[in-house]
Amino acid sequence: MGEIRGRVRSLSGKSNLQLDRRLRSLRTFFLVSAVRDPDHRQRFTYVLRGWRPDADQRTARRAPRASDRALTLHTYGYRCAACGRTPKDDHVKLVIDHKIPLELGGSNEADNLQPLCEEDNHAKQALFSDHEENAEALRVSLSLPDAHLRIGELLKALEGIEVPKELIALVAREENHGDPTKRMRELRALGWKIKNSRRKEGRRSLSFYRLDSWEPWPPGGPKAAIARMEHARKQARRLEAQTTDAQERET
Ligand SMILES: [Zn+2]
Repeated sequence: MGEIRGRVRSLSGKSNLQLDRRLRSLRTFFLVSAVRDPDHRQRFTYVLRGWRPDADQRTARRAPRASDRALTLHTYGYRCAACGRTPKDDHVKLVIDHKIPLELGGSNEADNLQPLCEEDNHAKQALFSDHEENAEALRVSLSLPDAHLRIGELLKALEGIEVPKELIALVAREENHGDPTKRMRELRALGWKIKNSRRKEGRRSLSFYRLDSWEPWPPGGPKAAIARMEHARKQARRLEAQTTDAQERET
């Protein structure tokens, strides 16, 4: 990105602050892959691989269909997905938000849409502009098959940085979105050192996670390893209960 930025500056005489966004929008028509520099986790090399096979059908449609918007509002009961306020009772205006932004590979389909009040929509946009330089890390994480991998790889890319809970919830892509606490507990059980901190900012209470150290992914993947640990814990508890029963019978 540094080289691209330098080249744009030498050609046009000014730096382009929207470069990350431009690069992401290229992906509507082109195959661009990003390779993470193993020594600098936040540094990527971009490779243009050619046109997308479906490039001619991709007309960069930026707005969801009216029927999907209507379905989304209905599904969420005409409430803001973040704060629960409604136009009827709270006089808020709802906008249709892409849970995963289009530039990060999110779709225009109903399952990627949610209503947000203008306030929460602005907060989300601010979150993304704060993390514009981490867009590539987000995109790479989002492409992974399991929530632990997605959260873990994002934290690794941003190691030592306080990552807002909302960004983690976004890559987690889970139904209980907004609360990655359980996943954090599971990553810690795998030996990861993750620190949680909270701050108040106006009406909002913000929560951050910072990765201090991590372990390589266990063989077979984190999901299987966590399931094994869970199973072992249940057995130990059952054994303990049986022992207590036996002791009680003896006395
Ligand atoms: Zn809201």
